[in-house]
Amino acid sequence: MSFWKPDVTDIHRQQKRIISGVAIAFSVTACSITPAGISSQLKTNQLTSKLHAIQVPQQTLTSQVNTQSQSSAKVENLTFSIPVTFEGKTVDRVQPSNNEKVIALSIDDGPWPNTTLKMLEILQQNDVKATFFLVGQALQANPTIAKQVVAQGHAIGNHTWHHWYRRMDEATAKSEIERTNELIYKTTGVKTTLFRPPGGVLNNGLAAYAKSQKYAVVMWSQTSADTDPRAKSEVFVKNVLRDAKPGSIVLMHDGGGDRQRTVQALPEIISGLKQQGYRFVTVPELLEMQK
Ligand SMILES: [Zn+2]
Repeated sequence: MSFWKPDVTDIHRQQKRIISGVAIAFSVTACSITPAGISSQLKTNQLTSKLHAIQVPQQTLTSQVNTQSQSSAKVENLTFSIPVTFEGKTVDRVQPSNNEKVIALSIDDGPWPNTTLKMLEILQQNDVKATFFLVGQALQANPTIAKQVVAQGHAIGNHTWHHWYRRMDEATAKSEIERTNELIYKTTGVKTTLFRPPGGVLNNGLAAYAKSQKYAVVMWSQTSADTDPRAKSEVFVKNVLRDAKPGSIVLMHDGGGDRQRTVQALPEIISGLKQQGYRFVTVPELLEMQK
C-alpha cells in the first residue's frame, strides 16, 4: 500500500531531525479535512489522496521532560467512563443544558516528542483540560509523554494502533482498538471507552467494532484544519473561533507530523474562546452535560 512507503515530506523535515531511529511506519492523519456530517464514503475518498507514511519519532534524551514532571508521571488508575446514553453511539457535539458555553479540545495522533510537551505546558499555564486520542504505535515509542498527559489531568481516548483508514475485518479492527487500549492501561493506568476513528472514517469496520463493545465513537463538530500543510497558524485560530458553539468538540493534532503551527495557534485558540465566554471541559465531562 502506498502509505507504507517511507515518504518524508517538507513538513516533516524538521521532525526528522529529532527522530531517534524508531522505524515504525505510521499513516499520518488527515482528520481535519473531514468535517463532521459529510458522508463516510466522501471522507474515505478525500483521505485516500492524502495518505503518506512517516516514522514515529521517539522521545530522546534531549526532549523537554524535566525531572519534576517525570516524578509526577507515575501510573495511576483512572477510568474515563461515559454515560449509558453514549455507549455504542457516535457523537460529534452535545447540547449542554442551559446552552452553557462549554467546549472540548481534542488532540489527536500523539504522544509526540516536543509538540505534545509544548501543548501540555500551554494547557497547564491556562488551566485547561483537553482530551488526547492516542495512537498505539506512538504511545509505544513515547510512554513517558503519555504518563505526563495523564498526570496533568487530561482525558485519554483510543485512536487505534496503526492509524489505518482502510477497510478491515473484525479481527483486525478488534486488534487495532484493543491492543491500543491495553497499552494505554499498562502505560498510564487509564481505562477508556472513548474511541476516535482515524480520519473520521466510519465505514471501514473500526467504528462498527467499537460500537459493538460500547465505546463512544467521538467525532468532532469543528476543526482547526491543522493538517493543511499550507495554512498558517492564524488560520487554525480563525477556524476554531469562527464556529465555536456550546457543546462543540474541536479537532486539532499534537502528532502525526510537524505540529509546530498547532502549538503556535493553541494559546490564541484558548484566549479567544475564553474571551467568547467558553469554559473548557474534557470529552467525558462534556458527555455528562448532555441535557
Ligand atoms: Zn488521527
